Amino acid sequence: MKLLLLGPVGCGKGTQAAIISKNYNIPHISTGEIFRWNVQNNTELGQLAKPYMEKGELVPENLTFKLVSDRLSKEDCKNGFILDGYPRNLEQAKALDQIVQLDKVIMIHITEEIILERLGTRRMCSQCKQPTNIKWLVDGKCEKCGGEVYTREDDKPEVIKNRLEKQAVSKELIEFFENKGIFYTIESTNEVEKTYARIDEVIKK
Ligand code: AMP
Repeated sequence: MKLLLLGPVGCGKGTQAAIISKNYNIPHISTGEIFRWNVQNNTELGQLAKPYMEKGELVPENLTFKLVSDRLSKEDCKNGFILDGYPRNLEQAKALDQIVQLDKVIMIHITEEIILERLGTRRMCSQCKQPTNIKWLVDGKCEKCGGEVYTREDDKPEVIKNRLEKQAVSKELIEFFENKGIFYTIESTNEVEKTYARIDEVIKK
């Protein structure tokens, strides 16, 4: 199953993609996570991507497409994958379309009010690399693996605003997938499991 999760920044894509990855045994490919790894490890790609990421802007397409196409050509993607964070615009969707045909695109719908509340309390686990929330932490550590958590640089309020503006899912992107008959929307709920159940229903359709 070749899947893509779409939705605004902070809609819970990362959390949901991780559950899909585990339940369907397919790799979770998060361009944001790969970029963050490269920044933390100070690779050449990380150095090039960092200034864009810090401002909440998209990393240029030539760097992003190479990263995605390299990752999708790996053996573990043969039986499917769940893409999270790519493609984010029409240009990227067309580029991806040249190398792979997606089965389903699922958009998580959520109000901006809830997003702002969520991003303000979001944390990342430095160990299992999954997003979490201060409400879920156990003794200040990741509730899943006990790892140390940190706040993403781009979860600062001024950057969040820029990301919401610059990275909204465009109408053209939605139409691109609608025209292929593979586009589905689900409404986010306040509970991870309930939202997942809605996504799973679409996957099983
Ligand atoms: P995310 O974790 O998906 O919110 O991504 C974090 C940051 O990585 C974004 O704000 C962008 O700077 C960069 N990034 C992730 N995915 C893409 C993409 N598809 N195209 C360009 N930049 C991206």
